[in-house]
Amino acid sequence: MLDSFGRKITYLRLSITDRCNLRCRYCMPEDGVPPTAHDDLLRYEELLRIAAAAVSLGIDRFKVTGGEPLVRRGCVDFIQHLKALPGVRQVTLTTNGLLLPLLLDELCTAGLDGVNISLDTLNNEQYQRLTRRTHTANEVLDTVRLCAARLPTKVNAVLLPETADQLIPLAELAQTLSIDVRFIERMPLGAGENDQTIRADAALDRLRAHWPDLTPVNQPRGNGPARYFHTPDMQGCLGLIDAVSHSFCDRCNRLRLTSTGLLKPCLCYEQGVELRPLLRGGADEAALRDAIRAAILQKPAAHCFQQRESITEHKSMNQIGG
Ligand code: SAM
Ligand code: SF4
Repeated sequence: MLDSFGRKITYLRLSITDRCNLRCRYCMPEDGVPPTAHDDLLRYEELLRIAAAAVSLGIDRFKVTGGEPLVRRGCVDFIQHLKALPGVRQVTLTTNGLLLPLLLDELCTAGLDGVNISLDTLNNEQYQRLTRRTHTANEVLDTVRLCAARLPTKVNAVLLPETADQLIPLAELAQTLSIDVRFIERMPLGAGENDQTIRADAALDRLRAHWPDLTPVNQPRGNGPARYFHTPDMQGCLGLIDAVSHSFCDRCNRLRLTSTGLLKPCLCYEQGVELRPLLRGGADEAALRDAIRAAILQKPAAHCFQQRESITEHKSMNQIGG
């Protein structure tokens, strides 16, 4: 379906939990967020009903996210059921990777189409400082290698001043492995809303200085707003997601559903359509479809990350799903 600005909405991010086994500084407060009451969380059957209604409006690609989606029991079965829904074309997952080695076989069997693994640094000490936990970047890197052999795999790294020395080492992963490495501007939301980002253009200048033959990839790649670049000796591509410094809102194709059932038209604003009362109040598929249509029609022309005083979203990223 088209929104009020003529944009085709085809992609829904489904957050299935706000819990996480890490505490990344730019995403979550050190003590976590107050736990969501179990009953407030959408059940998997409810998520599947929403997905089916979304499909009927032309949304056929889904990203399962969180918090850390793999900490929620039953996540793999949910992915299998989601992928099996008629009309669903693609189901991918975004994860910190820690539980992936345990679940990778099952996820492949469930029909998962791809995985994004968040890894902001290859330096173990930096990783532990950033995530406030004792896991290591080496563990995650081993998982990236494991996944790259089985599934379309992307590494996502947030552009942080404290990990500036990691830009080239992370980008080199696209040379040695058949994966895309994407660098994302840190958005002024959640725990680190006043922290700085490295601008994507500055990152691109440094990548170009290292790889003078870096050229833009012109054909579409993935569902998102990344600008991709490539050199002949790279197996994968490098991506830049300049969510803050350049608005790519004119190409926005997505909605986001929080784990408690708020359907968000835009990352930047707190407004949305509450689906949980509908689901639990006996709404049929037509009513759900109308609610999703209403959220699509509420999509604003653009986000407001450049004018921070206009940001009305105060939830942290683990509550929104990234
Ligand atoms: N736990 C999973 C993970 O880390 O991939 C999924 C949820 S996490 C909220 C989704 C994505 O949001 C991650 O790639 C994370 O780096 C990104 N993220 C979190 N806070 C962010 C921020 N303030 N700016 C930009 N990206 C952020
Ligand atoms: Fe957890 Fe992902 Fe947020 Fe890190 S970015 S705290 S892994 S939800």
